[in-house]
Amino acid sequence: MIRLLTVLHRPPWFRSGLVRSCSGLPPDRTAARIRNTFLNFFRDRGHLLVPSAPVRPRGDPSLLFVNAGMNQFKPILLGTVDPRSPMASYRRVANSQKCVRAGGKHNDLDDVGRDVYHHTFFEMMGSWSFGDYFKEEACQMAWSLLTEHYGLPVDRLYVSYFGGDAAFGLPPDDETRQIWLEIGVQANRILPFGLKENFWEMGDSGPCGPCTEIHYDHVGGRDGAALVNNDTPDLVEIWNLVFMQYNRELDGSLRPLPQCSVDTGMGLERLVRILQNKTSNYDTDLFTPLLDHIHQVSCVDIYGGRKGSSDQEKVDMAYRVVADHIRTLSVCIADGIHPGMSGAELVLRRILRRALRFCVEVLQAPQGSLAGLVPTVTHILGDVYPELHSEKDRIMDVINENEAQFLSSLQQGSRLIHRTLNRMENKHGLFPASVAWSLHRDLGFPLDLVDLVLEERGVRVDREELDRLISENHKVVSESQSGPQSQLSLDILSLSELQRLGVPHTNDSLKYQYSLDRDRYVFPACCAVILALYDGHSLRSEVSEGQRCAVILDRTCFYAEQGGQSHDQGYFTRNGSKDVVYPVDAVEQVGGYVVHHVTTSECLKTGDQVELHLDQVNRLSCMVKHTATHVLNFALRKVLGPSIQQRGSHVSAERLRFDFTTKVSLSVSQLQQVESCVMDVISANQRVYSEELPLLSAKTISGLRTVDEVYPDPVRVVSVGIPVSELLNDQTDKQTSVELCCGTHLLQTGFIQDLVIVSERQMVRGISRIVAVTGRDATRARELGQAVAQDVDSLSARLAGSTPSSLVSAHCLAKEVGILSDAVDNTPIPQWQRRDLQNQLKVLQRTTNTTVRKLEVREAAVKAEALLQKHGKKDILVDSVDTDSLSVVMKTVNQLSTAAPNAVVMLLAHQVHSGKVLCACQVPKGSASSSLLASDWAVAVCQHLGGGAGGNAVVAQGTGSSDNIIEVLRWAEQFAVQKIQR
Ligand code: ATP
Ligand code: MG
Repeated sequence: MIRLLTVLHRPPWFRSGLVRSCSGLPPDRTAARIRNTFLNFFRDRGHLLVPSAPVRPRGDPSLLFVNAGMNQFKPILLGTVDPRSPMASYRRVANSQKCVRAGGKHNDLDDVGRDVYHHTFFEMMGSWSFGDYFKEEACQMAWSLLTEHYGLPVDRLYVSYFGGDAAFGLPPDDETRQIWLEIGVQANRILPFGLKENFWEMGDSGPCGPCTEIHYDHVGGRDGAALVNNDTPDLVEIWNLVFMQYNRELDGSLRPLPQCSVDTGMGLERLVRILQNKTSNYDTDLFTPLLDHIHQVSCVDIYGGRKGSSDQEKVDMAYRVVADHIRTLSVCIADGIHPGMSGAELVLRRILRRALRFCVEVLQAPQGSLAGLVPTVTHILGDVYPELHSEKDRIMDVINENEAQFLSSLQQGSRLIHRTLNRMENKHGLFPASVAWSLHRDLGFPLDLVDLVLEERGVRVDREELDRLISENHKVVSESQSGPQSQLSLDILSLSELQRLGVPHTNDSLKYQYSLDRDRYVFPACCAVILALYDGHSLRSEVSEGQRCAVILDRTCFYAEQGGQSHDQGYFTRNGSKDVVYPVDAVEQVGGYVVHHVTTSECLKTGDQVELHLDQVNRLSCMVKHTATHVLNFALRKVLGPSIQQRGSHVSAERLRFDFTTKVSLSVSQLQQVESCVMDVISANQRVYSEELPLLSAKTISGLRTVDEVYPDPVRVVSVGIPVSELLNDQTDKQTSVELCCGTHLLQTGFIQDLVIVSERQMVRGISRIVAVTGRDATRARELGQAVAQDVDSLSARLAGSTPSSLVSAHCLAKEVGILSDAVDNTPIPQWQRRDLQNQLKVLQRTTNTTVRKLEVREAAVKAEALLQKHGKKDILVDSVDTDSLSVVMKTVNQLSTAAPNAVVMLLAHQVHSGKVLCACQVPKGSASSSLLASDWAVAVCQHLGGGAGGNAVVAQGTGSSDNIIEVLRWAEQFAVQKIQR
């Protein structure tokens, strides 16, 4: 009876027979339609639809992979959102969020490919309530969407809720259980679970609360309660509804949040699998075009969906890994994460290399195949994430370039493994873990591949030591990821307490109210009243002497760190005791408050009146750099074309940094053109206009530069040379710098005085970083550049004038070239000049190297001749020569060996002043004396001298030290005699 009901309850698409779309699916069952249904459902219920945030916000390299959909809205949940930002008014929101879980706390990398429902990249469809509805509506909407709109059979669904934890003093979430009962879920399908499964926390501290999860049984017709949360591929979690109602304090205790929020997330891939009635996520239209494409480029059978032991050759796993990883790679690279050496970048590098290895070794696809899959990814996902379309070529370039590097390191790695194996005394002992680890870390050689190569040779790696190295590395990585947490940052409870107490947001308009009086900038004086004090735990009315605390004033002239500009520096004094100074270490903007981090020299109280003293030199220097950055951005666009995009920038008092997209590094002439364009704007001493405008009208200005971030409304527009109002009324691109920017700027460009780009390099393919200095630093850079250029000129004149006749003078010249090259590489000089000089020095280096080589050969010939005369054609020729150069010793040995092909030859050179001994030797190839290997001989002699040597069976060289060269010569000769006689 129950079975019959189950069949009857099934929605029509479960029985098939519907009209099929071109992908063979009913039109309303394609992933695109399923995604849209979700978004429309929530839009119809008052939710604002917002686009997905980048998988890592641009310009913030410290943030690791986004593991859940909430990152985008963290400022709302933490109460730190800028009250002028549109986000501050969000109450109900829905979106489809790009999620990557391949590192950090949530790491699904190991499951990917092995199972069929975990991906490194997946789409999390989410709905949010920020202080709006709570548990009841959230559960009702989720249930209605799943059962009524998607038509999921009720008898396939299970829900879990938080069953409480006595040890942590947490009561069960009976409220949620009751809600499910009222919705009509059978009691035996509402299952309690513990902290691990059903209690969600943002981190060690911050918002947290119970969650309720909806699970789907792919088999059906059974009581699957025992399989929930049991890692069974047939019964999987599809939707998680998190109820944030507590704040976890630093001491571990829980306090109720001032406003409760809901954060729900459902994996699109899992839902699509259900609605398309497939046994695996990979059989849905989110993946099948990729699997087909992989089949076309590989040399293996079509994808068979096998897993575990039935997938003997791991071919189907390879299909899944490659299809999964290429999506992750495309999304991450498009969002500006590149395969690299630390943090998220290292994770991406591993993903890339893992994908390549499966491509090359298992699927036997030719080079270039992996990048070739990118257009298919764009085809599947590009409509929802349009950046995949615009970044397609760059993604492919990055993958191809990394592939070439990987293949070469694969070769290098195999060579290193074989060399290490050959050197191992016990050929069946343990392979050194340090070598395996360095292969992995430095060459990106997958550890399982090391195991595989070793297995073929019957050797195992020292696993215990390797595990130790791995865990040591994890520790370092996780420590660097967590970073120093500022204890003084206000948390959500203290922020809401400020609001409850009616503390108004800080008036910081004074930071913009400076003026230019003749040639001097005049900054406004600022007296303020302390409204609140925070000691890292709670709000205080008084903070005693010697403590660090956060100070909130009614007004301030200090600039808080934001928009890529460093915060101001300076100090307070208190009315009544003006000789006591309170230094301000940092200034940040949190939820409308400007928070000054101060060390109290004496007690501070709320209500105290303070005078703010801005470090004006520091501020002015930041203003110079910030305006210079805008002018530079403009000049780059003028020289390189409008396609360049800003990818981050930072200005401090010392220098400015600007990252932007460009395919290759700038040429010498482009660098010069950019600098000269900047100089034109500086010498025109153009006015800089700033004005606050409604965001919508600001965005209509043609030629406006924006960065990929959420701007407050109203927003500040900074324009060079043309008043903002004129730009608003004219739709032609006025060819000037106009940017949305909250920074503090000069009032006229002339104050920049001078600008020099001191460095420009491609950080990763397609993104260049410029570092520039201004004013006196720039002039100094030019002077240094001139001085170094003169040195290079005079050296090349000397080299062109006469060829050195002695080896000593040739060596001196080579050394000079080396020292100059170092100076050119490391001195802050104009980058265009550096490139120029580097090219000149390369030519000089080649010339001096050739001269040195020639003179060495000549000197070696003279020495060899003299030695031949002295010794005749002996079988064992051991002697000393007079030179400072190991290369001359080696060349003399070579020449002697040519003249006396049956002799074993060793020469030593003794530097009496230092006691250092240079040693080189050669033995005939494959003769009777082959019992003596050159490397053994040199190693023995040099070790006897307390040094070391290296080489091969025929030639070797090394160094050591001794005061008694006669004794060493005798020892060396005896060693050879004994070996040969034996
Ligand atoms: P699981 O236990 O299956 O790993 P989870 O508890 O880690 O899931 P949540 O953190 O609750 O998942 O994420 C919410 C939803 O996102 C899940 O219900 C699921 O639909 C989806 N999801 C989570 N991780 C993945 C993944 N690696 N690949 C695909 N979808 C995922
Ligand atoms: Mg998980």
